[in-house]
Amino acid sequence: MRFCHCPSCGERLSSRDLGDEHNVPWCDKCGGPWFEMFYCCVIVLARRGEKFALIKQKSPEQSERDKYVCVSGYIKTSESAEDAARREVYEELGLAAKSVRFISSYVYEKKQMLMLGYCVDVDEGEFKLSDELYAAQWFDKERAASLLKDTSVGNRLIADILKEGE
Ligand SMILES: [Zn+2]
Repeated sequence: MRFCHCPSCGERLSSRDLGDEHNVPWCDKCGGPWFEMFYCCVIVLARRGEKFALIKQKSPEQSERDKYVCVSGYIKTSESAEDAARREVYEELGLAAKSVRFISSYVYEKKQMLMLGYCVDVDEGEFKLSDELYAAQWFDKERAASLLKDTSVGNRLIADILKEGE
């Protein structure tokens, strides 16, 4: 997201060269830059032993409801990405994290997002699903990888996790 107007005072932004950065949007009134912004999310594969948890989200679209995806969510202000990964697994699956491991970051062009990928090992216990979910299930690695759509970030995440184990 590139700003045209200052989000603080509403003034139309001009452009400045700042060090190595060229054409940085600049507010003359506030005297400061407004760098491009994008959303930052976590995408998480919850794992227990050799199994991975995938979820189905409630959605008005039948095609979306039928699709297994990874746990994911926006990182809140003043929250670390690791805390967001733990929180999302707890909110969506009702399971506490034993360990949180960063795998890689992924650019999701379609939504202009940076997604930080994690593998979270979880405690024993039954799923306690969030109201936003329709289903969750444990799958072995081959099945989980085949259920995640080819071009999805989730598919790249599981591929990267499995590569580590080789
Ligand atoms: Zn301003």
